[in-house]
Amino acid sequence: MPTFRLPGTARATAREGPFFNVSKRGDFNIPPRIRHYPAQVNYMDLCMPKVDVVIAPRWLIPVEPAGVVLEGHALVVSAGRILAICPAEQAKAEHPHAPWLGRPHHVLMPGLVNAHTHAAMNLLRGYADDLPLEQWLGERIWPAEQHWVNREFVRDGADLAILEMIRGGTTCFQDMYMFPDEVGAVAAERGLRAVVSMIVIEVPTAWANDVDEYLDKGLKVHDRFKDHALIKTAFGPHAPYTVSDDTVKRILTLADQTDTCIQMHVHETAQEIVDATKLHGERPLQRLEKLGALTSQLNAVHMTQLEPDEIALLAARGVHVIHCPESNMKLASGTCPVVDLLAAGVNVALGTDGAASNNDLDMFGEMRSAALLAKLSSGDASGVPAATALQMATLNGARALRLDGEIGSLMPGKSADMVCVSLAAPACQPVHNALSQIVYSATRDDVTDVWVAGKQLYGDDEFLTSNAQEVCDKANDWLQRMRQN
Ligand SMILES: [Zn+2]
Repeated sequence: MPTFRLPGTARATAREGPFFNVSKRGDFNIPPRIRHYPAQVNYMDLCMPKVDVVIAPRWLIPVEPAGVVLEGHALVVSAGRILAICPAEQAKAEHPHAPWLGRPHHVLMPGLVNAHTHAAMNLLRGYADDLPLEQWLGERIWPAEQHWVNREFVRDGADLAILEMIRGGTTCFQDMYMFPDEVGAVAAERGLRAVVSMIVIEVPTAWANDVDEYLDKGLKVHDRFKDHALIKTAFGPHAPYTVSDDTVKRILTLADQTDTCIQMHVHETAQEIVDATKLHGERPLQRLEKLGALTSQLNAVHMTQLEPDEIALLAARGVHVIHCPESNMKLASGTCPVVDLLAAGVNVALGTDGAASNNDLDMFGEMRSAALLAKLSSGDASGVPAATALQMATLNGARALRLDGEIGSLMPGKSADMVCVSLAAPACQPVHNALSQIVYSATRDDVTDVWVAGKQLYGDDEFLTSNAQEVCDKANDWLQRMRQN
């Protein structure tokens, strides 16, 4: 297999490196500032970037190129980025003194991108089950949120969600909830990458009273994180049925000015379409199209109700669809036509939705459900094959969040956001195909190591940036408080 290498590093190409040039003939042009070093200095050592770690798994699935499984390769990390992917012997020869992490029964792959969640709702896991969306939301979730949600609730709930996501191999999530500044702060503290949404809804909540206040507070959150390495922001108008035309237009303008994405629940249930058609005389997607909201900035979440012409429209506009199969199944919301969307060229990513409607943030489960549901609903066993499901859970999520230049696949130059998954368990034996095993057999419990930007967040059965006991104790404090009222 080819050797991948970060451009501009030693012995890379004939391109200019950070400290020296390599001519087309391959000889070095030592810059004047290091020419005076004594002859015994190894100029190569001076010029080679410092290597943080070399990881040598049994299998390496880069996701790009699609479907590739490398065996006997190693991945070199330098300054939190992927420096090279090359045969393990070559990595050993080139970096003999670098820390070496052997993972002999494991797959190394990109960290999973959970493109839609409501992290703080982890505190409402199991609070309201076995109900359709309208009843679940109107009679159970919204009243509970009105009573309980405050800054402390969001912090403790998000902390629990982040713990769960790290343990399950998720390295980036896009959130939509009140107090997004708190979600961003706790994600940053734990070292997890996140896109937090500046939520907007036309009803008062503990976060804001009206649209002006939602937008004002949201923009302050954007300013706070705009230069942060791990935390980004997006606009989060809740749904077409909870935001007015005027509010959508204001958000479109602000999203352009701040160069941010917009995530919105759209066409989640059949009832949403019936109600909208009665009220506006048109389907929500038609309304959003008239408002100019169907663009490549939009992450349309759910999309269980789609006509063929709407699929063509989404493809033409470059809208990203965030598919949440388990939430859709649990609330009996409907089925997103993923096979048709992919065939039309629409980027489809995966999200878990909140733990109150799933009831977990398990992206391994979501990958598997997405693949199986697509086959069942399309009547085509080849619909959403394993490689596609893995791409939806990684690179497609990164594309939707406009982070694919940074994460989503293992490529030299990208951030070292990645996970190791052990296939040693009996349930994963024998390994005919490591990629199939990841999607159809492995679970999140098989994740052994998690890194974000080269920093290890989980390893040796331990959380390295969270105190798991403390986080779970706080969640149980909330349970007691909620039971007493
Ligand atoms: Zn949602």
